[in-house]
Amino acid sequence: MGRITLEAVTKRFGEVEVIPPLNLDIDDGEFVVFVGPSGCGKSTLLRLIAGLEDTSGGRILIDGKDATDTPPAKRGLAMVFQSYALYPHMSVRKNIAFPMRMAGVPQDEQDRRITAAAKALNLTDYLDRKPGQLSGGQRQRVAIGRAIVREPAAFLFDEPLSNLDAALRVGMRLEISELHNRLKTTMVYVTHDQVEAMTMADKIVVLRAGFIEQVGSPMDLYRAPKNLFVAGFIGSPK
Ligand code: ADP
Ligand code: MG
Repeated sequence: MGRITLEAVTKRFGEVEVIPPLNLDIDDGEFVVFVGPSGCGKSTLLRLIAGLEDTSGGRILIDGKDATDTPPAKRGLAMVFQSYALYPHMSVRKNIAFPMRMAGVPQDEQDRRITAAAKALNLTDYLDRKPGQLSGGQRQRVAIGRAIVREPAAFLFDEPLSNLDAALRVGMRLEISELHNRLKTTMVYVTHDQVEAMTMADKIVVLRAGFIEQVGSPMDLYRAPKNLFVAGFIGSPK
């Protein structure tokens, strides 16, 4: 569960090829961070994995099965959106329950998963509040809770902390790492923040104009950046 393979995946928008043929293996349980400057294709790559964009070529395998043409809801992956994607008129409980209601999960099973997610995310005392009555960090946890209850094979995050202030970002970074340690579910995490990449990743994928410049552990990239672009991007002394 949670192994994702990209085989010569490409993406064109009109005439413009934003992702040239790209190969990547994400192992089950890995925390993989896509990092690179704005416009380099991080979100596009994540949306291709999620199925929110169609590939222009190549194949995407999930747990060894070809999922290239599988619709997003059937891929078994959960995209975590920024906290402003919550429904303001619904309680935290209803926000978290929403994807399960859509999927027809029985009520007692919904309750079991909500209780577990709320406990994991320290939201137990906030289930009856509305998003507007929560702090930014709590709202982001609700957005994560909504992904957890789907029990996905992998979580896909697109800059989930970018609209939180700096102090809160540090705390949420720790919480997401802690959640990964606990669930051991594959996480694919997009950021343009080097510190997030270096502190959270098992494996960093450095992107530049749709190409993979280098893949490796934070220590690999720090000790042996392939070139000045990677060195500059991850703060290596090269
Ligand atoms: P990042 O997330 O790394 O900032 P994106 O994946 O959003 O980068 O964008 C990569 C490139 O693809 C950019 O040049 C962007 O303008 C282009 N792009 C993204 N989405 C679309 C789209 N729907 N139509 C046309 N071009 C797009
Ligand atoms: Mg983006």
